[in-house]
Amino acid sequence: MTARILVVDDIPANVRLLEVRLLAEYFEVLTASNGPDAIETCENGKVDVVLLDVMMPDMDGFEVCRRLKSDPATAHIPVVMITALDQVSDRVRGLEAGADDFLTKPVNDLQLMTRVKSLVRLKSLTDELRLRASTTRNIGIEELLSRNYASEDTMPKVLLIDERKSSVERIQKMLRDRADLDVTGDPHAGFFQAAETSYECVMISTAFADFDPLRLCSQLRSLDRTRFVPIILLAEEGEEERIIRGLELGINDYLMRPIDQQELTARLRTQVRRKRYNDQLRASVTQTIEMAVTDGLTGLHNRRYLDSHLQTLFDRAVARRRPLSVMITDLDRFKSINDAHGHDGGDEVLREFARRLRKNVRGIDLACRFGGEEFVVVMPDTDGVVAEKVAERIRAEIAQMPFAIGADGKTIEVTVSVGVSSVLKGVDTVAALMKRADLALYEAKSGGRNRVVAKAA
Ligand SMILES: [Mg+2]
Repeated sequence: MTARILVVDDIPANVRLLEVRLLAEYFEVLTASNGPDAIETCENGKVDVVLLDVMMPDMDGFEVCRRLKSDPATAHIPVVMITALDQVSDRVRGLEAGADDFLTKPVNDLQLMTRVKSLVRLKSLTDELRLRASTTRNIGIEELLSRNYASEDTMPKVLLIDERKSSVERIQKMLRDRADLDVTGDPHAGFFQAAETSYECVMISTAFADFDPLRLCSQLRSLDRTRFVPIILLAEEGEEERIIRGLELGINDYLMRPIDQQELTARLRTQVRRKRYNDQLRASVTQTIEMAVTDGLTGLHNRRYLDSHLQTLFDRAVARRRPLSVMITDLDRFKSINDAHGHDGGDEVLREFARRLRKNVRGIDLACRFGGEEFVVVMPDTDGVVAEKVAERIRAEIAQMPFAIGADGKTIEVTVSVGVSSVLKGVDTVAALMKRADLALYEAKSGGRNRVVAKAA
């Protein structure tokens, strides 16, 4: 993982110390010795994480953080405050200033790398979302990104797996009003609970009398339903090796006991935020796929979708010796509707037609807009006789009820011609099936329109 880290400290020796460690992990490092320089570097872009000293002359770290977080151009850059040891009040002030995380001096190597890597991952998700938001104008994503965690109304759903009662009580108290917390003392039960409920974070204690907590981490990572749930390990002093093993297995972060409330809150916040970004990204991918196979005007499937699925439906019907029928519908004299009522009027007719079409077919039928005013319905398990009845029902429903156009209650008469064909026993192909339906439609048109012609076997 490569990323650009900005180290801000007024003491050059401190800057160098962090710089050397980060360079050893192949991060790119930028430096600044005061607040204004740090802000300028962030504004120029390309900073992935800021490591920010609190105590600096003139402008202190809190002020720098506040300014970065209040500027939309820099608000998305994760900020880690570096505070003096045991300065709990500093941590509180840091969180209030919008800091994403904090480290205490002297900075421990494992903590430094875990947090920086975790925030770099969060930043890359945010960047991806910002990119998509700007290319797809996805309002939902813009809103998600601009939302401040503190003002988010939904508390994260969290599972704590810890068998020590006193520890559980402490954590419950710390997260009161900050998380919707479920607790279990049994790691086996915890595994099933994590698989059955969609948690936004799972916290696992390392202190079990006779159970290896890393086994649970690896089980959660290997199960589909829990693969992406953030895991925070609650470890004891001196368990560095276990933590490193855990990080290799895919845990996302860890906390050392005794647990500090501000630290717990900050770490949980980062993990939950990342999970929510991730979920949003996945949803937007799904949405993109849906858009690619959906007709924007009518909400029916589009021709691309039909082309990729008709062969499958056809093959399945032939293999199972089941009937399959297709109907092609074409609105009569649609050009004159467009001419008389404009394209908006034409669009209204198409939408209403699609609505009536959908109402008259089953869920397993594949209804799509084939192009222009032509629609195709593929009906599995339907023979020619039934398909013709369905087509006739649709034709009648279109002809009997005039279509409303515009806001002033104007209505117009619309009719439709339909061609129906069915898979033939023996040798048949998708192309031949479609060709017969097309031929039937042509006959319906030339026979006077507003009628169904079936080329049933
Ligand atoms: Mg300083």
